[in-house]
Amino acid sequence: MFTAAQAPDDNLYNLLNFNSLLDKLSEDIRVESGNMHTLLELCVKSIKWDNHSLQNRVMNCIRDELEDREGVFSFAQLEYIFRRTMGIGIGNQLREFAVALAYYQRCYVEGAIKTEQKLVAGDMVRLFNELDGFMEAYLQFEDRHKRDFPRDSPKDPRDRRGEMDSCYFHIHGVGESCNSTMDIDG
Ligand SMILES: [Zn+2]
Repeated sequence: MFTAAQAPDDNLYNLLNFNSLLDKLSEDIRVESGNMHTLLELCVKSIKWDNHSLQNRVMNCIRDELEDREGVFSFAQLEYIFRRTMGIGIGNQLREFAVALAYYQRCYVEGAIKTEQKLVAGDMVRLFNELDGFMEAYLQFEDRHKRDFPRDSPKDPRDRRGEMDSCYFHIHGVGESCNSTMDIDG
């Protein structure tokens, strides 16, 4: 069986292997990212597994995919996010991103989003009434935005090169550094 001397090498091998697996997975989901539901499913799994590396990478892909096609979440997608991550508060960056995008759609600056993507009062009432936890998460994010960007207009949460950089919707443990620059193109 294993000797004590072999253990560190094996651990290192597994670590490197795991990271290359994540790289491969990121490439694959980028290729297939036309399917937002696949990304959401994977993100929900990574939250439940409490796997920060995977969650951060999938969050990057979700933001890029939405930015590339100037898209937003449908009501059905928001419903999926909030139902499937019910009861998970801390570490639920997908929920935080979802309400950040809703906040942007609600408090848009003229011309920043498509007319049909604006969230009007009736849309907000529906979200608050029908999605458990939405109102709480939305109000918490509103406070974060006001704290991070006082008196500024709403920032587009899809844009990872903007003020809400890649790490803005990441989760990292204590002392865990961010490697987000590794997977930003160009
Ligand atoms: Zn990060």
